[in-house]
Amino acid sequence: ARIPFVCGNWKMHKTAAEAVALVNELRDGVGEAAGRVQVAVAPPFTALHAVKQAIGGTRIELAAQDVHWEAQGAFTGEISAAMLADAGCTHGIVGHSERRQLFGETDETVRKKVGALLGAGIRPIVCVGETLGEREANRTLEVVERQVRGGLAGLSAEVLAGITVAYEPVWAIGTGKTATSAQAQEVHAAIRKLLRELGGSVADQIRIQYGGSVKPENARELMSQPDVDGALVGGASLKAKDFIAIVKGAL
Ligand code: 13P
Repeated sequence: ARIPFVCGNWKMHKTAAEAVALVNELRDGVGEAAGRVQVAVAPPFTALHAVKQAIGGTRIELAAQDVHWEAQGAFTGEISAAMLADAGCTHGIVGHSERRQLFGETDETVRKKVGALLGAGIRPIVCVGETLGEREANRTLEVVERQVRGGLAGLSAEVLAGITVAYEPVWAIGTGKTATSAQAQEVHAAIRKLLRELGGSVADQIRIQYGGSVKPENARELMSQPDVDGALVGGASLKAKDFIAIVKGAL
């Protein structure tokens, strides 16, 4: 059985001091789920070091929100995978829809970023998901399949086993509109089927998170679906009480 994986994506929120305060509030609640749910937080780059210190002695793991694919060089404003590993990151989010929509992320850059993270020993969380227009045009599975294939192209089954896929329907992100558990399960099952094609039996080990307006009220129901193995949580991960409730919803 897959251990559920819940990650808080803090997006562009929290100074270092605010980030540390939030981690301190998460400590006890997350501790109660230790060993039964994997938990990570993804603060902004500027808070990574401080959060790394703060999570010492807890089971909380550290994720980055993005990465650049080159190892080093004249890439003003970018951060390499080795720098993230140095800051203590064990996970890295790539292909978030906000990066796809606002910052020109493509399946090709996602693939390069996945490679860079893996090269630095960081486990990628690869985000995929359709827009409302794509869903209404009945193109959901086609879009998600293209994104999964594009982002994971060329990876061996062994490497695939360590990857997390996050299904985040764009219309559900920050809108308060959650996919129903049946809608989520349908897409998660399709992703699992595709992963089986790409990696054979390791598909059964790969966690597929759901993201998009996950809240304490809907988390348990969503994560009770057979192919929903956790959550990638935005807004609700900024409130300790809500994030802990979501983590416990995975139990
Ligand atoms: P919300 O939980 O705020 O809808 O954000 C989801 C998300 O984008 C997580 O990566």
